[in-house]
Amino acid sequence: MKLEQNDRLFDEAKKYTPGGVHTSIRNVNPHLVFTKAEGAYVYDADDNRYLDYQAAFGPFILGHNHPYVNEKVKTALDRTDLYGFGTTDLEIELARKVCRHVPSADKVLFCNSGSEATYHAIRLARAVTSKKKIIKFQGCYHGWHDYVAVNMLSAWDKIGQKDPGSAGMLEEAIEHTLICTFNDLEDVAQQFQKYKGEIAALIIEPIPHNIGCILPEKGFLEGLRILCNENDSLLIFDEVITGFRHHIGGYQAIAGVTPDLTTLGKAMANGYPIAAIAGKDKYMSRFNTNPGGDVWFAGTYNGHAVGTAAAIATIEVMETLPVHDHIFRLGEKMRSGIRDIHERLGISSFVAGIGSVFTSYFMDFEAKNYTDLQHNDADFYVQYRLKLLEKGIFKVPMNLKRNHISFVHTDQDIEYTLAAIESVLIEMR
Ligand code: PLP
Repeated sequence: MKLEQNDRLFDEAKKYTPGGVHTSIRNVNPHLVFTKAEGAYVYDADDNRYLDYQAAFGPFILGHNHPYVNEKVKTALDRTDLYGFGTTDLEIELARKVCRHVPSADKVLFCNSGSEATYHAIRLARAVTSKKKIIKFQGCYHGWHDYVAVNMLSAWDKIGQKDPGSAGMLEEAIEHTLICTFNDLEDVAQQFQKYKGEIAALIIEPIPHNIGCILPEKGFLEGLRILCNENDSLLIFDEVITGFRHHIGGYQAIAGVTPDLTTLGKAMANGYPIAAIAGKDKYMSRFNTNPGGDVWFAGTYNGHAVGTAAAIATIEVMETLPVHDHIFRLGEKMRSGIRDIHERLGISSFVAGIGSVFTSYFMDFEAKNYTDLQHNDADFYVQYRLKLLEKGIFKVPMNLKRNHISFVHTDQDIEYTLAAIESVLIEMR
């Protein structure tokens, strides 16, 4: 793989930007400088072409540079943009769609990133309950702010203790964030017992995709709903990844468990920047977008025409074309194809996923939580993904990362990928 231009440009990037990248986890070898994206493919500065399953960590559910979404954005920008006053026809149309599809959404507010959405959700929960503490789960990611940037991809010896993800975080924020084990209802019940009357909210990725794909066991999400009800705490589903990707109504529409608040982003707008917080009217009306509301909600770019038009177009495509049928079918084809390869080659693995998401953990049992994932062979996992990258298959070469299939992927793409996987694994065996 020729990387001359990539290397040259990356050296240039480092002159102006710390580390040369604009998000922490983008600083991964090899340092690619991307120049083009189209459909199922992305291209780097040396014109290497990659079949993309990284999907920029999830937004691309229809494929890159989707013509219909782009057209809708351009048409919107021909006549409108941003006002800083009142609302827009685009915001109204998008809000109507979100409230129609997402079970927990009586009302919705738009912002620009998932981190903003989870921040607002937690602040709202604290206002509603007059309590301070929140529960999150080891391995789940909800954004970069102090309330939630703890116990994410913790080193294995940090599990079971507070593990702040950054220097400079407020100790009080860390103290008030309690950490539980995914799929362990007993652990959650004990925290509610120990901190009785103190827990404002429980925030969870209903499927922790930030560590690949761990599915909730039967009864787990239902149990959380009951515990939150019993303790007058708000249940927040962070559906920034699962929302729209697994179902137009989010994973809650599949699970049949309705949270009090939901955060959305990523696949909602097929790569354009917009996110949302949605929820029950009795809670959402506390935001001060509502006269008399006392929970601050603001943002200069909230509701910008670019994001709103893109989200409307993306949801329209999901409403009218069999997007989920297609990506679920290809997802199953990929997972069963990989399982067959592993079996043929005698590779110990747990091929995980749901719908369009898949990953192979190199371990010999099905993980139920983050702690179990220390049995995944991380070196093998990263090497495998690096070798796939060299063969033009883009799965980010980092441990515990998931892959995404989009509506533009074809049966031929899956077959091509399976052949590449087999040849890489034969080489690595
Ligand atoms: N919540 C989840 C589940 C996420 O995966 C992410 C980002 O990866 C966020 C929140 C934060 O979203 P953003 O990066 O848009 O701030």
